[in-house]
Amino acid sequence: MEKEVTSRNFIEQAIDKDLSEGVYDHVCTRFPPEPNGYLHIGHAKSILLNYGLAQQYHGQFNLRFDDTNPTKEKTEFVDSIKEDIQWLGADWGDHLYFASDYFEQMYEAAVKLIKEGKAFVCDLSAEEIREYRGTLKEPGKESPYRNRSVEESLDMFRRMRDGEYPDGSKVLRAKIDMSSPNINMRDPVIYRVAHMTHHNTGDKWCIYPMYDFAHPIEDAIEGITHSICTLEFEDHRPLYDWVVREIGYEMPPRQIEFAKLYLTNVVTGKRYIKKLVEEGIVDGWDDPRLVSIAALRRRGFTPDSIKLFVELCGVSKAHSSVDYAMLEYCIREDLKLKASRMMAILKPVKLIIDNYPKGQTEELEVPNNMEHPELGTRKVTFGRELYIEQEDFMEEPPRKYFRMFPGNEVRLMNAYFVTCTGFEKDADGNITEIHCTYDPASKGGNSPDGRKVKGTIHWVEATTALNAECRLYENIIDEEKGVYNEDGSLNLNPNSLVILKDCMLEANFAGVKAYDKFQFVRNGFFCVDSHDSKPDGLVFNRIVSLKSSFKLPAK
Ligand code: ATP
Ligand code: MG
Repeated sequence: MEKEVTSRNFIEQAIDKDLSEGVYDHVCTRFPPEPNGYLHIGHAKSILLNYGLAQQYHGQFNLRFDDTNPTKEKTEFVDSIKEDIQWLGADWGDHLYFASDYFEQMYEAAVKLIKEGKAFVCDLSAEEIREYRGTLKEPGKESPYRNRSVEESLDMFRRMRDGEYPDGSKVLRAKIDMSSPNINMRDPVIYRVAHMTHHNTGDKWCIYPMYDFAHPIEDAIEGITHSICTLEFEDHRPLYDWVVREIGYEMPPRQIEFAKLYLTNVVTGKRYIKKLVEEGIVDGWDDPRLVSIAALRRRGFTPDSIKLFVELCGVSKAHSSVDYAMLEYCIREDLKLKASRMMAILKPVKLIIDNYPKGQTEELEVPNNMEHPELGTRKVTFGRELYIEQEDFMEEPPRKYFRMFPGNEVRLMNAYFVTCTGFEKDADGNITEIHCTYDPASKGGNSPDGRKVKGTIHWVEATTALNAECRLYENIIDEEKGVYNEDGSLNLNPNSLVILKDCMLEANFAGVKAYDKFQFVRNGFFCVDSHDSKPDGLVFNRIVSLKSSFKLPAK
């Protein structure tokens, strides 16, 4: 989608200013995920924002795994994150980096700070450091180790690296200002001892840099110009600037913050999702009810729909949340002209045309997408026995019901006019088959003599129909309505997954592949499930129904 050039967001304005003032002569952005989980729709915003800016300014986009904390990180996540970013279409080219590859440079930077009297080894415990830090109202207290000699700190830092001290016994702290109104500037810890195996560097290191020290260095080493992050890091910016200035990088990066994307009407909290996955309530991190990128892909969302969504959200400094219905709007917009409109009956009942020749079928040519004739036509088999939706027949119709009921004439979509002549029921009162006669002169669904029918229903020929399972989704937890019940159990929506078996699909569905997407007439957009669908047992996920009351917010 072309971006409107009417207004530039605050990040673009800041970049324009930097370029015009010669602060930078190019743009380099990055996406810096921690490989500790699957990416979600919020990350998609950050990816597309950073990649989009690099594209827009003919600059460079880096993918950097921010893997400086060995406790939570796993190689498994590195692979899933790459796959998700690639799928979104953000291309990092040769610019794939790992923060852990910079451990040596970070160590050297710390040594430089110690030598210049700007960092010191501190023996206070974590708890004491917290006490000494002060509060928003009170200034902090200087550590008794703050004025340790440069030589002693240098020696101790080397011995921290050499593994001479147990975890938690010593840290390296920046020497900034214990009375700063910004707590982040009160001699922050920049290195800690942690005897842990790292997924990339193994047992080479037993000291690890803290995020606020590592991140600016990573950006500076890679020549990032604009380091875009979310709002909670705004108060950390003075420290970011302090680090790149004191270490002396020539063209230091600039940090710019924007508000996180929050989605409502869908579960997004990491801990709730983790619980759902761990308790087996959902089918893994890519269960189609979740909003991880993998889940959205499996459900049937497209990269274009997510791009449109992110564009409609815009970037802002103010926290706001966006309704899940907007995401649904975006996938409808994307698919309405791309997907073929096919016949599929979710809750079938037999319809028998008594005056249609027994044992005969015919091929009818139908458009693939009436709104987009370029998608061409296909042949659909028609015959004496069909399936229609149960809800398209009523024994005793209410007023304004124009579909099938005894004595009424309706159009079978693209086929013929038929008049209902009767029906049969089983002992429980369920309709088992419906009978009708057709008018051979109405072929193609066109009136032969100007007479009108009000209802048009879709159908599938019975002898060639393919059996399929269709899964319909709703939100699994409504965070607004409350995640927990009074007894502490999760407040789950019992309709979050409805499985319809023995759905009947037109024969043209034979040969579909995982992720293929279709419009099912009247029933919504559906996607072939990538886990469970097999050639002899098709499984479809409903991406979204056709109608919604969602309106685009006014600009
Ligand atoms: P954690 O809670 O583990 O820190 P995180 O969601 O911040 O998780 P990161 O891997 O640190 O995960 O995030 C990578 C990037 O994605 C960061 O630049 C972060 O600012 C951005 N990001 C994370 N969540 C959102 C969100 N909801 N909206 C926009 N950007 C986000
Ligand atoms: Mg994070």
